Amino acid sequence: MDLPEKDFSKRMIPDMQTLIFATHNANKAAEVLAVLGDRFRIITLKDAGIVDEIPEPHETLEANATEKSTTIHRLTGQNCFSEDTGLETEALHGEPGVKSARYAGEGRDFNENLEKLLSRLRSAENRQARFRTVISLILNGREYQFEGICPGRIIEDKRGLNGFGYDPVFIPDGSDKTFAEMTLEEKNLYSHRKKAMEKLITFLKQYNAQDQN
Ligand code: IMP
Repeated sequence: MDLPEKDFSKRMIPDMQTLIFATHNANKAAEVLAVLGDRFRIITLKDAGIVDEIPEPHETLEANATEKSTTIHRLTGQNCFSEDTGLETEALHGEPGVKSARYAGEGRDFNENLEKLLSRLRSAENRQARFRTVISLILNGREYQFEGICPGRIIEDKRGLNGFGYDPVFIPDGSDKTFAEMTLEEKNLYSHRKKAMEKLITFLKQYNAQDQN
């Protein structure tokens, strides 16, 4: 059936609500989708046919997040967002920080990273730490960033089987469970990523509202 021209031109307007989420990490995608619900249509890198790792060569979470979102925008021309997260400990002056994924080497092995952290903190009395997420959104050719922080502490031995990365050793302030002992919904009550996502959602709602005026 031929569409009337007016309707067809409407379909050609890029849909603001559709965003590519620039990650290959299935855990991150699940957490983000749980926050977004069906408010926005999210396309993963897999859906977009992108299989290569996106480089994270910089010294800050902000610069790495920008690198990932601008790379995906360059490849697809679509509105998109990326995030970069680091675990920052007081006793180790911010380590592993931006190096969280490669703390124990280029293999990016979650377990080796975690063991290295526990061993470096073995004699530390100060167990304070925080997760920090930076989201970079590319919307209609402009970049916007949003930060989410979750303060907590690192325990001495792993607890729990859920989640990923450093979740088994991190207890957020206000809880006595590690992230790995929580369901995804419970983790999202505290999570750095959830806090950054909420800022992103608020921004998108305001942006959409302005667009319609
Ligand atoms: P990325 O560079 O943002 O992918 O994340 C760096 C590393 O931090 C990952 O490899 C994970 O080990 C860890 N990480 C990121 N987010 C979380 C989280 O929510 N919980 C536990 N570990 C995380």
